[in-house]
Amino acid sequence: MSEQRLGALRERLTQDGLDGFLGFREQDFRYLVGFSGDAGALVVGQADALLLTDSRYIETAQAEVRGARTAQHGQPLVQDVAAAMRQMGGERWGFDAESVSYGLYQRLQAQGTQLVPTQGIVLSLRMVKDREEIARLRRACAIAADALEELIDRLRPGMTEQDAAVWLEGRMREMGAEGAAFPFIVASGPRGSLPHAGASARVLQAGDMVTLDVGCRYLGYHSDITRTVGLGTPAAELRQIYEVVRQAQAAGIAAARPGVLARDVDRAAREVIAAAGYGERFGHGTGHGVGLEIHEWPQVSTRSDDTLAVGMVLTVEPGIYLPGLGGVRIEDTVLVTADGAEVLTPSPKSLRML
Ligand code: ZN
Ligand code: ZN
Repeated sequence: MSEQRLGALRERLTQDGLDGFLGFREQDFRYLVGFSGDAGALVVGQADALLLTDSRYIETAQAEVRGARTAQHGQPLVQDVAAAMRQMGGERWGFDAESVSYGLYQRLQAQGTQLVPTQGIVLSLRMVKDREEIARLRRACAIAADALEELIDRLRPGMTEQDAAVWLEGRMREMGAEGAAFPFIVASGPRGSLPHAGASARVLQAGDMVTLDVGCRYLGYHSDITRTVGLGTPAAELRQIYEVVRQAQAAGIAAARPGVLARDVDRAAREVIAAAGYGERFGHGTGHGVGLEIHEWPQVSTRSDDTLAVGMVLTVEPGIYLPGLGGVRIEDTVLVTADGAEVLTPSPKSLRML
């Protein structure tokens, strides 16, 4: 895998007139050479590659890294990075402008290196997942969907939002997850109108709608699923917007297939919500890519220029939020296939009133 991915990176560097690339993000390490550590630097030239890390990680690096040499760096790291660049040669070295801090940039420049800012080179390679990545994403999604179903089975008035979140993270770990993909959103009752409300000490009550937006990490790869359930019988308008969101989400998934613009998936979902009169109550994008990061490319929003291709993994997650009353969001992680999109997080979507 590493050889293929490094090969694709080098091809892209050549197209962009670059002689090499410096990676400093843990996702660069994991994706390009298979290293699971989060400290160091990856120096990729046209004919050679070197992963530099410190004494905490060098043994792991030696065991895991494929396609690159490994070495323990001295202090400062940038000195060894510059030495490797000189040894590999070339004039124009790219770095990712979004992830290198200004301080690191200055320290690299002080070593006499010539650096070219680039935008999303590795992120764009990561958009289409290979077989190994899809297997990991599948597992991450299955754990999240199964654990969420178990939580929904035990959800009842009297529990706090935090109780639900803590139980769920433990259950995901028991099922083989490395941990939560992000701090879970458990938004009950009126808190449901806050799209990104963290789990609070609020006690769940009969009549609440409860939005559960959760996911886990498995071998570096993330999953993302949201279900909204009722406790007892929620207010009529909440039950009504549930149906609208359910139809919007189905329309979004139905629109996802190779060759389609990601913004057309957004539009398919958004039109259903607008037609029901709730367009102003759906303020966020319809989804995002999922992989080594919980939010990555492609973006699924009104402004996205990304075109879907086989092997992309993304979420479809429209919602309606009514301040003072509550909200509904339904989300699946889906895989773009030759003839459409496969839901990787299957679980019931008709309104459950527990
Ligand atoms: Zn989510
Ligand atoms: Zn999401």
